[in-house]
Amino acid sequence: MGEAYKLDCDICAYTENIFVGFGLLYMRLESIASFVQDAALKRRIEEFIGNPSTRYDAYDALYVCPVCQAIRNELFIEMESDSSQYKISYACPRCASVMQQEHIENNVPVHLSCPACEKGKLKATFYMDWD
Ligand SMILES: [Zn+2]
Ligand SMILES: [Zn+2]
Repeated sequence: MGEAYKLDCDICAYTENIFVGFGLLYMRLESIASFVQDAALKRRIEEFIGNPSTRYDAYDALYVCPVCQAIRNELFIEMESDSSQYKISYACPRCASVMQQEHIENNVPVHLSCPACEKGKLKATFYMDWD
């Protein structure tokens, strides 16, 4: 089951809803392929579906740019078969650095600077489960 959090800046009005975790749709690669927008990723997933040795891990994750603190909420997916492996990575929309996954938990301070004002700290508040 996944969790939804609201990120708030302690200085400015920045707020963002973030979905993390494992939804029902992620229990089969076929269903992941059905909602993925990126055509190249969809093709990679279909290649792995065709290989019975494939193992994978997929969930929604928070990605943060280590350089400029920009945030993206994206699908993490890693697949491995006897002949091939794939791990997704995301580039920062502002500065093109490789983004890093950040873990969030309710009431645990997020060690992130605000992407809007760059001075405030972000706080995560849990607000619902999803599946
Ligand atoms: Zn801020
Ligand atoms: Zn950046």
